[in-house]
Amino acid sequence: MTVSVVLFTSDLRLHDHPPLRAALDSADRVVPLFVQDDGVAAAGFDAPNRRAFLADCLADLDAQLRDRGGRLVVRSGDAVGQVCKVAAEAGARDVHIAAGVSGYAQRRETRLREALEQDGRRLHVHDAVITALPPGAVTPAGSDHFAVFTPYFRRWSAERLRDPLGAPRVVRVPDGIGSDALPSRRGISGIPEALATGGESEGRRRLTAWKRSQLAHYEERHDDLAADATSRLSPHLHFGTLSPAEVVQRARTDGGPGAEAFVRQICWRDFHHQVLAARPAASRADYRTRHDRWRSGRQAEEETQAWKDGRTGYPMVDAAMRQLRHEGWMHNRGRLLVASFLTKTLYVDWRVGARHFLDLLVDGDIANNQLNWQWTAGTGTDTRPHRVLNPVVQGKRFDPDGTYVRRWVPELEGITGKAVHEPWKLSGSERSRLDYPEPLIDLNDGLARFKRARGRD
Ligand code: FAD
Repeated sequence: MTVSVVLFTSDLRLHDHPPLRAALDSADRVVPLFVQDDGVAAAGFDAPNRRAFLADCLADLDAQLRDRGGRLVVRSGDAVGQVCKVAAEAGARDVHIAAGVSGYAQRRETRLREALEQDGRRLHVHDAVITALPPGAVTPAGSDHFAVFTPYFRRWSAERLRDPLGAPRVVRVPDGIGSDALPSRRGISGIPEALATGGESEGRRRLTAWKRSQLAHYEERHDDLAADATSRLSPHLHFGTLSPAEVVQRARTDGGPGAEAFVRQICWRDFHHQVLAARPAASRADYRTRHDRWRSGRQAEEETQAWKDGRTGYPMVDAAMRQLRHEGWMHNRGRLLVASFLTKTLYVDWRVGARHFLDLLVDGDIANNQLNWQWTAGTGTDTRPHRVLNPVVQGKRFDPDGTYVRRWVPELEGITGKAVHEPWKLSGSERSRLDYPEPLIDLNDGLARFKRARGRD
């Protein structure tokens, strides 16, 4: 009897799963394995919101496998050590895994290959599982990755993505392979009630429902903060409960006029992943230094805390930061705005903001988070690195009647229309009744400081 191990990482699904398909095609029995990796925890990446979503994903994966005659094996510890141990227990010759992107995932892959080879086993690494197109599949002349999105999008769009695979009908697991108990979201404290539910079943349900009701309007509504009309598929794409190749294919099949605008966003995800795969250090270091000497010290810390608490006195910034705390998720327009406010208006290091996001975001993702923060801070791939978003202008444009702001900042209830974006302009008596902070900083002062810092005054 031949046995293979499939190590699930950021691909917690049965549909369109090339490593699982390859293992099933080449062995009589397969061990579907997930390791609660000490290395991920040590890197401070196991924030409660994502741990809760992950617990849902593992429970659903186990249930789906049981429906097919199998089950999920969960172990904890060093991923490499645990995979070798399970492979030895099962007498497996081959181990299948999806290609990783981050520096951590790349190092883990190398260590795993070496450790397995020492035991006479083989590691098979499968591309285009975590992204729609593998990093490096398209490159510009003379470089190993694209540093600008638009030409990448052009090349990416011209590529044919592989056809998504169906889920297997039967998965046979060898007897006698022990598993730790599945983690549960119940024991995790401090997670918001509104946190999204994880799992492949939920991801597929959401994709189907969203495609039916919203996709056609995506282009005109994706920036409308109050409408909340984006897909909210980001945690499913992060944990791989949905396959990006399948999401693209399903969007393009009868997706209507919004489909290509939506597919473009999936391409942004691939874009950041191919940058990180080629430059893993960009998770910490400036991709393109602007020689910033970011503010530090007590005042900067207090202002950062006000930003985290949603008490900057700028309603759009505060609404978005409170949405993050209450849902573990934030609308993209909000993310752009609060990141610009922290890095450019307050001139605080992008790493401080990125860390806070990673502590709370249910979709917190090294490639998407760190590189979007760098993009917004102007140290990344933005071709207009010194632009600064004005929270009042952005509010009037993307939340013109103030619905989004009032949803998250109840202190401003009763203030209608665009006035909600400038509460400091209300009449004296109206203003004195508000329990809402004065602006933390004059936007013009922030802008002048930023321009000086970047040598553009
Ligand atoms: P939709 O608009 O429905 O888009 C569909 C999918 O496309 C998303 O689920 C996502 O996977 C991808 N996508 C959309 N916009 C982007 C983008 N700008 N870059 C990369 N992929 C994108 N996204 C994350 O998944 N994880 C993060 O940790 C993360 N941090 C961010 C930090 C900042 C400062 C900024 C500006 C953006 C960040 N994003 C991150 C990107 C984007 O904001 C979210 O992917 C999006 O808001 C998720 O909502 P949605 O699923 O409804 O998106």
